[in-house]
Amino acid sequence: MSTPPSDPDEPPAADEEPVDNTPTVTCDRCDREWELEYELDALYAGNQAFEQFALDHERHTGHFPDGVTPWVVNCQQCPDGERFLDERPARRWAETHGRHTRHDVRIQHADDDSETAINTVVEATGDPESPDQPADGEADE
Ligand SMILES: [Zn+2]
Ligand SMILES: [Zn+2]
Repeated sequence: MSTPPSDPDEPPAADEEPVDNTPTVTCDRCDREWELEYELDALYAGNQAFEQFALDHERHTGHFPDGVTPWVVNCQQCPDGERFLDERPARRWAETHGRHTRHDVRIQHADDDSETAINTVVEATGDPESPDQPADGEADE
């Protein structure tokens, strides 16, 4: 048993500095407004704090706060799915899921109400095991 080195006690979240520009989030459905102090404390900076809040809000309430139009990714072949606040991670999720499962994944964005089907047909990437040799009419069977 070794005694741990002096482990620094976390200072109580006292009012050290008045936070001027704490971003706030509003939700019409909840008729509430939140400051993102907690998310900022949890090391999510700037926009990420907002995203984290939005995702947490959705997780707990089932809807996103104002100003958030999530990218909803749903697998058509299994219950898997995710929601993202950006198109890029949504696409990455869809592509990754498709790569591993060969499932068809659909991306929806509430903003334009359009659906994008990610067709996850795995493309042949120069696979030497699948040569496109011409049939030379010689069947040796
Ligand atoms: Zn809400
Ligand atoms: Zn799936």
